[in-house]
Amino acid sequence: MEMTTTETQRPYTRVLGCLRGVGLRPTRQRLALAKLLFEGPDRHVTAEILHGEARTASIQVSLATVYNTLHQFTAAGLLREIVVDSQRSYFDTNMTDHHHFFFEGSGELKDIPGDQVVVAGLPAPPPGMAIKRIDIVVCVENKKYLFNNN
Ligand SMILES: [Zn+2]
Repeated sequence: MEMTTTETQRPYTRVLGCLRGVGLRPTRQRLALAKLLFEGPDRHVTAEILHGEARTASIQVSLATVYNTLHQFTAAGLLREIVVDSQRSYFDTNMTDHHHFFFEGSGELKDIPGDQVVVAGLPAPPPGMAIKRIDIVVCVENKKYLFNNN
């Protein structure tokens, strides 16, 4: 059996630079969570999903700490929060301009490239406010559940 020690013992160089770059102190917990989040393809996670992954990886961290860390990363511009409804927020590692399909059955998000959505009209923002970003979440459900009367 092949040993891949370089993979399992890879130094935290990339995530360390990532945290320092935005002025966040690289605590052990932040580094471990950043490694789970950013060392792979772009993804969408909830605090609960990331907490589960941390436990699987034997990282001692509470759900509250995971939640706080996700919000700190979001405030620092490392993540984008996607609010699907009042009960559920996802955190997206993809910071490029894009929107989302939300699969109600599975609770998954899938990216929609930004140029595939055209917004035809917007209300004026409230006094003193400017529009920063537009997040479109298109909720989809399997057709057989949506049109179940035929
Ligand atoms: Zn996304």
